[in-house]
Amino acid sequence: MDYKIVIDAGHGGDDPGASGNGIIEKDLNLKISNYMYDRFRELGVPVKIIRSTDETISPTERVDRVLDAFGNSDDVVVISNHINAGGGEGQSVTNKCITIKA
Ligand SMILES: [Zn+2]
Repeated sequence: MDYKIVIDAGHGGDDPGASGNGIIEKDLNLKISNYMYDRFRELGVPVKIIRSTDETISPTERVDRVLDAFGNSDDVVVISNHINAGGGEGQSVTNKCITIKA
């Protein structure tokens, strides 16, 4: 099966997400997501991105954008990028890969 990829940069705009050590989650999520988007395009993989700038997106709008990207199908993979602040040393990177099925 040829998969289509939807990349979601978590948070954005008025929602900064986690922060620590001078890092704001929404900014790092955006950098990671834009890199992934460019790389998938270079590889010829069908890909769309939910946000490519620092904008506020409501939960409902975010879901609508995911569903509008390639529709609701088994061949669509959604990668939602988040960075957790954690409580110890180092960092925790969370990539939630899900397929959406009604
Ligand atoms: Zn997050």
